[in-house]
Amino acid sequence: MQKVKEFMSEIFASKYYFSPYNFTCILCKQPIVLNATVECGHTFCEVCITEHLLENDNCPICNRNIKKTDFYPNLMLDEIIVSLIDKNEIFKYLSRKKFWMEIKENSKVMENVKVGEKIDIKDEEGIWRKGVVKLVVGGEGYSDLYVHYEGWENQHDEFLPNYSNRLAIAGFYTKN
Ligand SMILES: [Zn+2]
Ligand SMILES: [Zn+2]
Repeated sequence: MQKVKEFMSEIFASKYYFSPYNFTCILCKQPIVLNATVECGHTFCEVCITEHLLENDNCPICNRNIKKTDFYPNLMLDEIIVSLIDKNEIFKYLSRKKFWMEIKENSKVMENVKVGEKIDIKDEEGIWRKGVVKLVVGGEGYSDLYVHYEGWENQHDEFLPNYSNRLAIAGFYTKN
């Protein structure tokens, strides 16, 4: 028993065990912000896993099929990660967190988008463009938006779910 205790205290004392690298999101390769755990128990940044699940239906680590896409953050884990971040890195980490929280808030705004409304949309090359909503399919909360890129041919129009990370309120990323 003594041996086990010694072993445990050694592990818990070792910096490696409680290193922020053990709390790295496999998708963005950075310490997890706004953690989200999927059905298999693997944890990612909520924004990263949400984006991954827009085009995939599996866990990026173990490949298990993922059905649920609403996550509850583990606040205790959040505190642990923050406490482990190096003092020199904490500002960067908290800036990332603030940035993603703004995006999350933003996506709530997207729930009430109406036809004719202007929005920001990220194109396939990852550049934010101005867009306008031409059609809304679905009701309150979840819906699909048919978006036209301002100044582009109609053939570029596309359907995106309103919770897509490629959508934001007008002017959030684009400038006049
Ligand atoms: Zn991530
Ligand atoms: Zn998994």
